[in-house]
Amino acid sequence: MTSDPIERVVLTHLQIPFKEVFRISGGEVAIKDAIVVTLETASAVGLGESSPMAAGFGYSSDTPEGCWEDLAGTIAPSLLGQSVDSREAIAGLAGTWTASRFAIAAAETALWDLLGQARHATIAELLGAPDLRIDLGVESGLAVGLYPSIVELIKTIGAHLEAGYRRVKIKIQPGQDLELVRAVRQHFGEIELMVDANAAYTAADLDLFRELDQYDLLMFEQPMAAADLDGLAALQRAVTTPVCLDETAETLAQTEAAIQRGACRIVNLKIQRVGGLGPALAIHNLCHQHGVACWVGSMPELGIGQAHGIHLATLANCKYPSDLEPSSRWFVDDYTIPLVDLATPGIIEVPTRPGLGYHVDPVKVRRYQVRQQEFTTRTQG
Ligand SMILES: [Mg+2]
Repeated sequence: MTSDPIERVVLTHLQIPFKEVFRISGGEVAIKDAIVVTLETASAVGLGESSPMAAGFGYSSDTPEGCWEDLAGTIAPSLLGQSVDSREAIAGLAGTWTASRFAIAAAETALWDLLGQARHATIAELLGAPDLRIDLGVESGLAVGLYPSIVELIKTIGAHLEAGYRRVKIKIQPGQDLELVRAVRQHFGEIELMVDANAAYTAADLDLFRELDQYDLLMFEQPMAAADLDGLAALQRAVTTPVCLDETAETLAQTEAAIQRGACRIVNLKIQRVGGLGPALAIHNLCHQHGVACWVGSMPELGIGQAHGIHLATLANCKYPSDLEPSSRWFVDDYTIPLVDLATPGIIEVPTRPGLGYHVDPVKVRRYQVRQQEFTTRTQG
């Protein structure tokens, strides 16, 4: 039940272009960066992905360069010779790393992959997901960015909806909000619809959200700044639409403080933002205790990052469709076998092989890699 010791760690920085520029209230990005962490033992390979956006994008201050430094400088060397036999052992190891949570997430999730293979269990099973949820698969939601015009926004949503996505999430920012929601409602009728503001509003904007409250939206995602718990709580008191945390929910303590203040009714779980599956599970369980529903968000990540999200999204309290989408939705290509895809309209299947259940395509990795470094205890032959 204990994994074999880690003999080799490989870090690979990949860059794969987005199909179209991804725009939110805080910036835009055209190339997706990811650092793949590969942990090799005598009997298994564990995979994780660090998936920060390029510098200057609005989600967080974590960058590919910073995560590479954390992984190559401290995390990768510290993993050589280690083995894991429990979730607690993974948490113990991850707790020794002083690093970006996006960097920690890659190594931490790769350890879950190793643990699952050692225990002959999927990551969803290790997390404690109900069998029925695993069998049903994960509901995929369509997320779209900001567009220069409403016509382009409507066209983009229309082009994707036939894939059967279980809800639509649009981005808003001051000046591009009420009009967008009104137009999407008018055009698509009673679809499940939500908005994500990426922290672009303040408590001075309550009237705008009172108007948006009439459009029967699933939730307002991160309407205000991450630390503005008073503003979020004031908004939640003023509207019936649930407020959902994203950027605020960085740690268990911050999420708990927000729940205590009445600042949300829903929390978006992001493996990258919180530093791995263990911290995401802890936040999920806290929310469950407080009657706050969850769902799984994404950066979006490339294949291995999304695959870990698929397992997370099977947890009992994940009650809304996720931001997990097929590889071909965002990217010109992806590096996993299989590619992330919908098995039936709007549904992503949960892999049944032990561990993560996704592999890396070596041809794709060679094609898109910009940098690679390995660390090993094996004697070079
Ligand atoms: Mg968000």
